[in-house]
Amino acid sequence: LFVTLEGGEGAGKSTQARRLSDALQALGYETLLTREPGGTPGAEALRNLLLHGSVSLSWRAEILTLLAARSDHLDTAILPALKRGVIVICDRFHDSTFAYQGYGIGEAAPERLSFIAEARRFIQCDPDVTLLLELPREIARERLTARGGPGDRYEDQVEAFHVRVSEGFSVIADAEPLRVRRIDAGLEPDDVTQSLVQAVLTEFQG
Ligand code: C5P
Repeated sequence: LFVTLEGGEGAGKSTQARRLSDALQALGYETLLTREPGGTPGAEALRNLLLHGSVSLSWRAEILTLLAARSDHLDTAILPALKRGVIVICDRFHDSTFAYQGYGIGEAAPERLSFIAEARRFIQCDPDVTLLLELPREIARERLTARGGPGDRYEDQVEAFHVRVSEGFSVIADAEPLRVRRIDAGLEPDDVTQSLVQAVLTEFQG
């Protein structure tokens, strides 16, 4: 079973991905917890270039680099694990590319969304279920401020960008209600984990 977690910054996605993986293991399932961009040595090197590199790439090159990282991640980690029957939990995947590199861009979005759709045809692997952690932007911002320090290249984008990213996730969730489950990330952490576990078990057993 291939599970992805999606959402904007500050929704607690990475923490919840770990908690979900731990909870499933405690129930006896084997899991692979991984993340994007990254998840393999090659893809982590590309992540570093994208998030902290001193060079900037053209938008097409940026998208293709994200997809190159995803290819390596799929070929060397995700697909082999799925083949062994492991539950793969991936922190971000395709939907983040649409939300950040597509919707987040605002006026230029249509051109970018169609480029992403076209390019991703080379990477045919869709999640069985996507858990979208939703949190009002004001609360997410408070959480990020509490965390402190400068963010990476994307976290430091202007507010309007992040609002468009959230709207993008919402559009995706509306378009694919069977795959994408909306999760209220404003609940207590244990309750969020519980919702995630339930969603995965429903998918696994159903
Ligand atoms: O989820 P995480 O914080 O690890 O993501 C790392 C950074 O990469 C974030 O700032 C996120 O917004 C950005 N990102 C992106 N486009 C993607 C995936 C992640 O801009 N497709």
